[in-house]
Amino acid sequence: MIKFNYYIPTRIVFGCGSLEQLATLKLPGKKALIVITNGKSVRKYGYLQRVQDLLAKNGCDNVVYDKILPNPILTHVMEGAQLAKKEACDFVLGLGGGSPIDSAKSIAIMATNPGDYWDYISGGTGKAMPIPNRPLPIVAITTTAGTGTEADPWTVITHQDRQEKIGFGYDLTYPTLSIVDPELMVTVPPHLTAYQGFDALFHSCEGFIANIATPVSDGYALQAVKLVAKSLAKAVANGKDLEARTDVALANTLSGMNESTSSCTSEHSLAHATGALHPEIPHGAALIAISEEYFKFFAAKVPDRIKELAKAMGKPGNSALEFVDALVELQKQCGVYGLKLSDYGVTYDELPALVDNAYATMGGLFKLDRHTLSRDETIGIMQRAFK
Ligand SMILES: [Zn+2]
Repeated sequence: MIKFNYYIPTRIVFGCGSLEQLATLKLPGKKALIVITNGKSVRKYGYLQRVQDLLAKNGCDNVVYDKILPNPILTHVMEGAQLAKKEACDFVLGLGGGSPIDSAKSIAIMATNPGDYWDYISGGTGKAMPIPNRPLPIVAITTTAGTGTEADPWTVITHQDRQEKIGFGYDLTYPTLSIVDPELMVTVPPHLTAYQGFDALFHSCEGFIANIATPVSDGYALQAVKLVAKSLAKAVANGKDLEARTDVALANTLSGMNESTSSCTSEHSLAHATGALHPEIPHGAALIAISEEYFKFFAAKVPDRIKELAKAMGKPGNSALEFVDALVELQKQCGVYGLKLSDYGVTYDELPALVDNAYATMGGLFKLDRHTLSRDETIGIMQRAFK
């Protein structure tokens, strides 16, 4: 019997040139805390200035918090929230990729709530306390196509001292407004385009094989997988190809909707544990390094679902392993096949500890696999994936 529970309360304005609408769209406040990374790109390419000008046209003031790291950390969530309070900002605007937008969500919580962010999150040493006050409203403006965070409630933050990287979200951490303008993505370099595109792909593939998938989430997932298969290699080869960028941006937003209606699976727990222990590894790179062995394992356990994914990747779908072939082919086309975990400092000997970290911090996702992995099976996947 079909059952589902659907809730995505975000207004999404999608398409080339859509950033201009920031000047006229109804905003959720009068003073934004704009959250960006500590990198140079949003300033260098003029995106920050454009956003500030468009906000001003819309009668909206702003303050900038510009310290967010590629793997965002708790310290910056707390610092950003302090700034939002001090400056009396009434909404938080994440501008950039997943890191600043996720951080904007977490900052929005702590700008209106007491204590420490880790008091509220679940998993690891998080205290899972109820959040007493409504967070500030959140606006997301994406300049990359990877996390899907503009269309889901999730935010992933790392507690550096405790080596815990944990996803969190609830109904009030959906952005109220998201702008997805593929023209802002033409400046993303090829290797990051590939890492981010594969992140989007895995959100949908995992969502499709998760045991809570629904007909609604399946629709998002299969469409996203088709779009990535069609256009990711083109976007990597020529970043200015707006048609390819649009396909990948749409795949990413659909994957976010998939994450809102289904869920990631244990592959993401493992990638987050890898990032918790080795923060220099890009999230997408960790997923790519694990993916071939992960999906090979699940192809044997849930072949019917994975055959559907193979078809969405353009294969006949006679065998689930065709999906693994398609995955490897796409990784080769995008120049990211054979990424080595050891290049980021991961050692073979630490893999059991890494797996234990994944269970301790994001063990919930293991419960959403259609085959429940034993600890030994999980370690086996990581050992085979290790290079
Ligand atoms: Zn991800």
